[in-house]
Amino acid sequence: MKTGDQWLNCPLVATIDLSAIAHNYAVAQRCAPGRQVFAVVKANAYGHGAREVVTALHDVADGFAVASLEEAAEVRALHGEARILLLQGCFAAQDYLFAAQLGLDVVLHTEVQAQQLLAAQLARPLNVWLKLDSGMHRLGFSAEALREWHARLNGAAQVAELNLLSHFACADERGSEVTELQLERFLDLLDLDFAQRSLANSAAILTIPAAHMDWLRPGIMLYGATPFADLSAAELGVRPAMSLTAQLIACRDIASGEGVGYGGTWRAERASRIGTVSCGYADGYPRHAPSGTPVLINGQRVPLVGRVSMDMLTVDLTDMPSAREGDAVELWGAQLPVDEVAQAAGTIGYELLSKVTARVPRRYRHG
Ligand SMILES: *Cc1c(COP(=O)(O)O)cnc(C)c1O
Repeated sequence: MKTGDQWLNCPLVATIDLSAIAHNYAVAQRCAPGRQVFAVVKANAYGHGAREVVTALHDVADGFAVASLEEAAEVRALHGEARILLLQGCFAAQDYLFAAQLGLDVVLHTEVQAQQLLAAQLARPLNVWLKLDSGMHRLGFSAEALREWHARLNGAAQVAELNLLSHFACADERGSEVTELQLERFLDLLDLDFAQRSLANSAAILTIPAAHMDWLRPGIMLYGATPFADLSAAELGVRPAMSLTAQLIACRDIASGEGVGYGGTWRAERASRIGTVSCGYADGYPRHAPSGTPVLINGQRVPLVGRVSMDMLTVDLTDMPSAREGDAVELWGAQLPVDEVAQAAGTIGYELLSKVTARVPRRYRHG
């Protein structure tokens, strides 16, 4: 049931605080006054719901960035004017027609993409972002190839703005030499005439002013998680947008020496009280989260114990005798940073947030 108070009885729900996302967007803007912002809403807005996030940022965001044409079409349906940046560009020649129809900004990172664009008969020219492989070695032209394509695309009928873009590999490691080199390689190309430049992801927005350029591309910070291992979201001044909350659906006492969950991998070293929580890996909770990963019950931290199951997980309540069936559980969110859970599970907040599955209902709040 998804109406009114019945949400309270939902055994598992992801509550999304849209005012936190608006706040975090403002934080990105404050880091780089006067620059424009593509709010990155790929992967269903990192699991938060692209439709609701785009709507919440409708009147403030200068643009949105997405990974695929399908995502771009969804954003365009919600926003007629915003610039929409297609981060990986088109995957086939006919995609340029659709991109022109939608009025997208397209990235070009391969020769094939550039040739397909120049061969296309477009209803209107596209804003083009030439992507430089400045050192991440995932996508992009070498500096030499980029110079050649700049010359060929400049003034072409299919091209409106000709822009420059690159992406950092290590911006989350402060003082990284790779980042310095990437910035240098980007700056080296600025003798060419570009209408707009874009380089900064969240980590660079927060810590590398020299990389801000014309357009920022914040992703993770909008959702209130940190790109850094050693700087928390709270320290960065961003507010968590998603709280994944569940219920304690069963409690039992077990004797010392008994195992818990599949494989009995965790064994009680004392007489213990075990709680079962209505969230599992099919909801997006990481199956590899080890015993000891923090879980919040009624605002108090208890350790996860045993293997995470598909629909449930278990916690040790021995040191929390007040816990009862029906108690509220937070897997991550406003009171337990997703980054802490991610660190315990050997991953990053990005993965946990974007992997919350479709069966988890999203409930939206505006403050
Ligand atoms: C996903 C993505 C971003 C956003 O990165 P965050 O670390 O989440 O801020 C920016 N630029 C590109 C090219 C991306 O793919």
